Amino acid sequence: MTSSDTATPEPAASTLEYAITRIGDHFIDVIYFDLGRYLMAAGALTLFLLVFRSWSEARRIQRKRRASRGDYIREVLSSMRTVIVFALVTLVILMGREVGLIGLKLERVPMLTVAWQFALIVLVHDAYFYWIHRAMHTRALFRISHLHHHKSRTPTPWAAYSFATLEAVVEAAYLPLFLIVTSLFGIQYAGIAVLVFLWHMIIRNVMAHAGSELFPAGWVDNPLTDWISTTTHHDLHHSSGHNYGFYFTFWDRAMGTEHPRYKEEFRNNARPLFEGFPLRKFSRSSAEKVGVMVTALLAATTAVNGWLFAVDPTFI
Ligand SMILES: [Zn+2]
Ligand SMILES: [Zn+2]
Repeated sequence: MTSSDTATPEPAASTLEYAITRIGDHFIDVIYFDLGRYLMAAGALTLFLLVFRSWSEARRIQRKRRASRGDYIREVLSSMRTVIVFALVTLVILMGREVGLIGLKLERVPMLTVAWQFALIVLVHDAYFYWIHRAMHTRALFRISHLHHHKSRTPTPWAAYSFATLEAVVEAAYLPLFLIVTSLFGIQYAGIAVLVFLWHMIIRNVMAHAGSELFPAGWVDNPLTDWISTTTHHDLHHSSGHNYGFYFTFWDRAMGTEHPRYKEEFRNNARPLFEGFPLRKFSRSSAEKVGVMVTALLAATTAVNGWLFAVDPTFI
């Protein structure tokens, strides 16, 4: 072997072999990233609802019905399947970046760029979600795609990813499709904007399935906030239909699919934000509860801290 041989990096034996090696290298990271997001968001909200039980019970949406133990088990188990689908799609995005199909910038970008890219990706996702959701409610598609999600009639935060495989694929397909199309227009998306989008998506998703109204009283009566959908909005979709939108109320209003009693129901469920919060009489027992909550959250964060490294430029 000559010195010039050693100076030249070995080319991959074949593209396929190279791809398989890359996938093998990163699959665990990607699972960690997608699983961590779900567990942290659903876990944190569940803890919050439990610790501040009187606060959440006062805002309970379905007062006569409770999720059963079987509901929780089904929601968590089927969400694990969705995590695997999401992780595979995340891998497809990373591989798409490697082959130049997706322009994804993993280095630092200005905050303003992150802000407009985040806003665009959320707005387009809201439209995508509304229309695939309407499609999945048609007679031809409901059973094979969306019936599983509607087994949760009284949803819990764990229902956020409770999808049949087909629905998980359709839901996960949005991000690579969006990135491929924007790349065709020459837009290099910032990895951090995608990361903020993914976190915003799971947080809004668990909030929509909280079972208690998390938004404060007056939300639907203020034009500055009424365009953002609430927990009651999606809860009504599970209990009695209508309301196909995700983040916003635009599409349901434009297409006439909003629940006719949405605002009335919201006003029945919502309370002023701090009403019932143990702020004034902060007893020893509530201090202990907060301590347990913070410790559990820190432990969970430490356990899944891989999510930050997942967008490190050295990740790929
Ligand atoms: Zn639905
Ligand atoms: Zn739902």
